Amino acid sequence: MMAVRQEKLEALLNETRLFAPSEKFRHGANAGDPAIYQKADADLTGFWAEEALRLDWFKRWDEVLEWNSPWVKWFNGGQLNAAYNCVDRHAASLRRNKVAIIWEGEPGDARLLTYGMLQREVNRFANALKSLGVKKGDRVAIYLGMVPELAIAMLACAKIGALHSVVFGGFSAEALRDRINDAQAKVLVTADGAWRRGNVVPLKANADEALKETPSIEKVVVVNRVGRSGRAPVPMVAGRDVWWDGIIADAPVECAAEPMEAEDTLFILYTSGTTGKPKGVVHTTGGYLVGTSTTHRYIFDLKEDDVYWCTADIGWVTGHSYIVYGPLANGATTLMYEGTPDFPDRGRMWGIVEKYGVNVFYTAPTAIRSMMRWGTEWPAQHDLSSLRLLGTVGEPINPEAWMWYHENVGHTQCPIVDTWWQTETGMILISPLPGLTATKPGSATRPFPGVQVDILDEDGNSVGPGAGGNLVLTKPWPAMLRTIYGDPERFVRQYWSRYPGKYLTGDGAKVDNDGYLWLMGRVDDVMNVAGHRISTYEVESALVDHPSVAEAAVIGKTHDVKGQAISAFVTLKEGAQMSEALKEELKQHVAKKIGAIARPDDIFFTAELPKTRSAKIMRRLLRDIAEGRALGDTTTLADPTVIAQLRDQYESEGDAD
Ligand code: ATP
Ligand code: MG
Repeated sequence: MMAVRQEKLEALLNETRLFAPSEKFRHGANAGDPAIYQKADADLTGFWAEEALRLDWFKRWDEVLEWNSPWVKWFNGGQLNAAYNCVDRHAASLRRNKVAIIWEGEPGDARLLTYGMLQREVNRFANALKSLGVKKGDRVAIYLGMVPELAIAMLACAKIGALHSVVFGGFSAEALRDRINDAQAKVLVTADGAWRRGNVVPLKANADEALKETPSIEKVVVVNRVGRSGRAPVPMVAGRDVWWDGIIADAPVECAAEPMEAEDTLFILYTSGTTGKPKGVVHTTGGYLVGTSTTHRYIFDLKEDDVYWCTADIGWVTGHSYIVYGPLANGATTLMYEGTPDFPDRGRMWGIVEKYGVNVFYTAPTAIRSMMRWGTEWPAQHDLSSLRLLGTVGEPINPEAWMWYHENVGHTQCPIVDTWWQTETGMILISPLPGLTATKPGSATRPFPGVQVDILDEDGNSVGPGAGGNLVLTKPWPAMLRTIYGDPERFVRQYWSRYPGKYLTGDGAKVDNDGYLWLMGRVDDVMNVAGHRISTYEVESALVDHPSVAEAAVIGKTHDVKGQAISAFVTLKEGAQMSEALKEELKQHVAKKIGAIARPDDIFFTAELPKTRSAKIMRRLLRDIAEGRALGDTTTLADPTVIAQLRDQYESEGDAD
């Protein structure tokens, strides 16, 4: 791993804009008393035990925390069921007829599921899974688009104690096959297809391809999603494939929740693969549900009548924790949208906010940068006055994008929570509390109560303000991963060996003079230019700050003299003209914002950047291109043609300046 002793780069430390929560927001906030931080620090297990009591337990735990680093047990001896907590207990309360899931289909169809309705659907599918031979501890792979059946299938697995492994519906047959085999799944739940920009993603055809080499799969359940609109029916394999509708038709609507140990596995989820081979992250039941529901309640300041919308796909951890488990455990109304933000037009997201009166909106910086590129006229066409809180996750948010979001979506009235976390952490760990924290554009601010972080140099010493280093977590938290499925050695090596007893996040970070945390992206992405450590994120933010730039990806390219030279791949806003003069202007702009040392050596204009399926920029592939190497693993790319085109263009235009 690369060293990240960060030179004092003035750019970020100079951020002086501070946005304090309004009095009104502070007064009504779920976390309105700053003592919450001291309380959690003084008594970590007491803090989490109190939060855990918001859940329904079949049996109370014996011990809140047992910590033999890196092995952890939270709420050991306790018994509960995640689906019972997310559905049954609400269906048995005044929330019975409250909307649990608002679902908006891409073609404009919609479905509302109350807690009572959701309970019936979950129970029927849980019984259907049983009838297919699924037992407690078995693995069920789920390969669907964003349809209600996805959440129902997850909860049905949880209800009977089966482990789900959701594979993002945008993945290829190959990626699906590898994940099924790694988890040794017994049943696959898929659909005849998924809508995407008016076209059909052939999920069943992909699944059939994958299933040629997945001996563990016994049965396949197929949701009829696109067939209803007159598409030719997909072929079904006799004895193996069954229709979802068929199998639930006769299934009983009663199903008892399986009592699960707090430390029983709830699910497996593979990481995005931005840095390499995806890891099958294992999350357990008690700590995960406590961690996700608590953070959801405080960070999104959930109110009983809120309409809450997280735009992530459930194929990623954000969807698991903050569309399904966290919100439903809290009895929230959670919105799921099937399609893309630009279909049928670029105002689709804002149309949905207006249609359902969304109050809390949680999205990714990459989506915000796309919307910036499309222009302010799109949000301006819709009534967004229902919004009261905004959030982001997935990547560092460039201050420019933060301000755009603040002004054009939040109309300067909504706090923004920039939430840092990972598939591995299960829950948000660094974020403002919207009623308490004054925010700075681009900073995730401070750790959640009870979460302890440190920033270490190569020797394991804490670095001071302004100096970057490796972000580590020094205390256990309830939703932390327990292992990597089938590979405990990799778990120990990857996260716990660099600094024994501390969890290595793999991200670089620094703290400013006010104690605010700034995430710098992956440690592997930090550049070394003539002995200076410069993060790709800082240079990218400086580029995005220029009025012509929509998005930028920066890499360090081997250089004889300097060690590394900075190469920037830049996507321009619509209407901006590519020219040599603009390249020069952009280089100057970066030099002015950060310093001459960060001036890019070359700038390359491109219509698209290579991104993972979770829409994160894959800098390692850009490094491969810039250095003329064979491309590394591309299986987790959203669109492999982007990288092929980019390479051809790069080779033909040359990288010379
Ligand atoms: P892999 O680990 O397989 O390479 P990945 O790290 O992209 O994939 P995720 O777990 O989905 O998979 O992403 C977590 C990472 O996303 C974090 O480690 C961090 O780099 C980035 N990230 C998430 N939220 C933020 C945020 N608010 N600010 C900065 N970075 C963030
Ligand atoms: Mg990661």
